[in-house]
Amino acid sequence: MKGDMSAVRTPAEIDIDGLVARFAQLYDGAPAGVWAAPGRVNIIGEHTDYNGGFVLPIALAQHTIAAVQPRDDGVVRVASASIDGGAPVEVELSRVAPGGEFGWASYVVGVGWAARQRGLPVTGIDIALDSNVPLGAGLSSSAALSCVTARAWSDLLGWGIDDETVADLGRDAENHIAGAPTGLMDQLASVCGRAAHAMQIDTRAVTIDQIPFDLGKFGLSLLVIDSHTEHSHAGGEYAERRQSTQEAALRLGVSELRDVPLESLATTLDKLPDLLRRRARHVITDSARVEQVAAMLAAGDDPRRIGRLLNDSHASMRDDFEITVPSVDSIQAAAVKAGAHGARMTGGGFGGCVIALVEDTAAESVAQACVDAAARGGFPTPTAFEAVPSAGAARLR
Ligand code: ADP
Ligand code: MG
Repeated sequence: MKGDMSAVRTPAEIDIDGLVARFAQLYDGAPAGVWAAPGRVNIIGEHTDYNGGFVLPIALAQHTIAAVQPRDDGVVRVASASIDGGAPVEVELSRVAPGGEFGWASYVVGVGWAARQRGLPVTGIDIALDSNVPLGAGLSSSAALSCVTARAWSDLLGWGIDDETVADLGRDAENHIAGAPTGLMDQLASVCGRAAHAMQIDTRAVTIDQIPFDLGKFGLSLLVIDSHTEHSHAGGEYAERRQSTQEAALRLGVSELRDVPLESLATTLDKLPDLLRRRARHVITDSARVEQVAAMLAAGDDPRRIGRLLNDSHASMRDDFEITVPSVDSIQAAAVKAGAHGARMTGGGFGGCVIALVEDTAAESVAQACVDAAARGGFPTPTAFEAVPSAGAARLR
């Protein structure tokens, strides 16, 4: 559809037949089936999840796919086209426990560990993977991997678990075996995504409202622009933000910042010292913006109207929460200047991706403006694709 010279790239196709053939080569037999789980991008609501607030992700059209065959012993063999030239890794499930060193295979064997913790019957599997979700870009390749594994294992062994439990197994694998402290948003989005919808997730109640998000109907596109910058201290900064929002809640006498009423926000926040005030203000206002955006979309409003809230969210992350970096700010500003209705960094911060809401007809010029701005600033060359809200984890064959 879009040529190589385009600033907006079409994601690589995944070759399902090729994966099945690779499975046969690796493990000498046919897989019992093939499953897929998508990456995700969050439309609005950042660092709200660990404060009991709202988030609004979509599942992407980019997937991790898995060809899988159950085994009758306790061994997992896993190979990924994305890592180590596709060489398989072998792990005995009985060895899997927190603190173990399983590298990228943690996201797979961790699901087996999590299922055992819940008393589900777990036998080994052979699994071959391919993916067109970029790894480590903030688009949740990790959740795509853990959730495709959980969905497949569950279907093959008849665990009979609901979607939320599939997501839980993925999160447990990430939290306890891979050692990545994520909330449940990534995994819920990967499992529960729906075409042409965004998911308003109440992270405290763990409920999902599917909100119509069909931008094509309005002549609009959502660009995801990857800054290709990653902050080496992101983990420490994340821990600091988590700690400072907890401290703010404690000082305000609420269990979570979610509980601070919006009406009296300014006077409430006056009770906090400057840094905590700004940290808390970001969390509380961004969660409120999720509710506003979701309400507007649910009412069928013109999505152009959410653009202002995307910009406000970016300013809040930049000035109050201080989780943006110069390359990301430059992309956001360039997108808006080039005609985006709104743009914001998405994800945990200190690099990663920017989303921009644009007219279909402006997608190319906005993406090019971001590339040009990065060149002027001496930043890595960003790449862009169009985000298409898609269905969650499912069996393909
Ligand atoms: P993100 O989830 O935003 O892509 P993370 O750092 O959370 O970034 O997860 C990326 C890591 O997940 C990779 O470094 C790798 O260990 C693992 N991973 C994700 N997808 C795959 C895959 N298809 N094959 C092998 N490992 C993967
Ligand atoms: Mg991740």
